[in-house]
Amino acid sequence: MSQQPTGGTPNDDRPTAPNRRNFLLSSAAVTAGAVGTHVLPGTAAAQPGNGAGNDWPDGPGERVRPHQPDAELRAILAEVDEQRIEAIVRKLASFGTRHTLSAQDDPERGVGAARDWIAEEMRRYAEASGGRMTVTVPSYVQEPASRIPEPTRISNVVATLRGDTDPNRVYVVSGHYDSRASDPMDATSDAPGADDDASGVAVAMELARITATRRSQATLVFAAVAGEEQGLYGAAFLARQFAEAGSDVQGMFTCDIVGSSTADDGTRDPRSVRLFAQGPPTTEAPERAETRRTIGGDNDSPARQLGRFVHENGHRSATGMDVRVIYRLDRYLRGGDHRAFLEEGFPAARFTEPNEDYAHQHQDVREEGGVQYGDLPEFCDFGYIAGVARVNAATLWPLAQAPSVPRDVVVDTSGLTNDTTLSWSPGSGTAPEGYEVVWRPTAEPFWTHVIAVGDTTSATIDLSKDNVIFGVRAVAASGHRSPAVFPFPPEA
Ligand SMILES: [Zn+2]
Repeated sequence: MSQQPTGGTPNDDRPTAPNRRNFLLSSAAVTAGAVGTHVLPGTAAAQPGNGAGNDWPDGPGERVRPHQPDAELRAILAEVDEQRIEAIVRKLASFGTRHTLSAQDDPERGVGAARDWIAEEMRRYAEASGGRMTVTVPSYVQEPASRIPEPTRISNVVATLRGDTDPNRVYVVSGHYDSRASDPMDATSDAPGADDDASGVAVAMELARITATRRSQATLVFAAVAGEEQGLYGAAFLARQFAEAGSDVQGMFTCDIVGSSTADDGTRDPRSVRLFAQGPPTTEAPERAETRRTIGGDNDSPARQLGRFVHENGHRSATGMDVRVIYRLDRYLRGGDHRAFLEEGFPAARFTEPNEDYAHQHQDVREEGGVQYGDLPEFCDFGYIAGVARVNAATLWPLAQAPSVPRDVVVDTSGLTNDTTLSWSPGSGTAPEGYEVVWRPTAEPFWTHVIAVGDTTSATIDLSKDNVIFGVRAVAASGHRSPAVFPFPPEA
């Protein structure tokens, strides 16, 4: 028998047999146990070694289980409306083109008409919020650059649901409302941009509508950004505005090309959505990056922790969808708006459909050799977009109701030991009810074990830091958990 389940979780009513092989030492760690209500009992035992590697090492804690949505989130998920999503995609396609260089003052056609319609819709949603949701259209003039021939106004449409208790902590979901034809500089040809990216805008708008009537702890931002196809300009502007305001953006998701699950060969995968999550942050200071390499932290960037959070919360039994986390910034040869946030040092990731059909992206609308080209609404699957919206809701809502991630998470490396001492500080906002230490074998992609350590800022776990990856996360009284934070040794 490789391991006894650990006691200490309130819904674990079997006789508990704490022993040294489980966890101990931090006084608070053993006694608190008041958190962890999502941890299911009785499943912690790993299988005896079969040589596969990932069952080793043995160690303390309960098996990590997918989080199940609470009543409020279930209500949110039930409100996601496929027909509204379809109406948004068709409306956006009806503006002919939404190219960033197209008309900004024509009421019928072009990027300006689309901008005004999105803002008007979002303002209508915000009316239900009792003043907590505000809609703005921040803009700036982009000077000439490779795909910007003359000074061009870039406008975002931003709906902000202000958090009740921790308003400076922000989570963002975005789609880009600009579109393009075959030639990235062609501002006049039809560019319906249904999949790329009216689908992502529809996700952001639908979630704005549904959450407008609700109270959130942290702030949620629903954005339709412009200039993506010309060089991520709108997203970079939005990220810069957050950075300049000192906002604590703890998660950003771009939904870009989330409109269909059908590949060019007809293969369908309507239950999967890919989430692209970057490895080591490119913005990390050189000394920190060197430490990360040395201690094997290359799979534990904040973006990867966000990916693990999506995997744990957006799973099929909650959303009808499987989240396929891909440990990569983006697809080959492609880019997206999450990159602009990563470059400001904010954790961010990209949702994209599982298969792409390149006849319906970045293509002039035309028939050629019996094939219909162009990014037309008829090639979208609106039920699929609704599924992606549910995955986003099942991620963003719990993030914004959970405590902040813990700060200054440190692993004690002052001596050679076969156990592990972790310490941390609380993040901003309402104090969490407690904390959990999570861990996994180094070759595992997702957290495998969780140990409730209670309302404390340090814990010693009877498991060698040399053999596994640890993380620390905060738990609210409501049961919502933050993403985990990977510990670094104390800075010299
Ligand atoms: Zn796109």
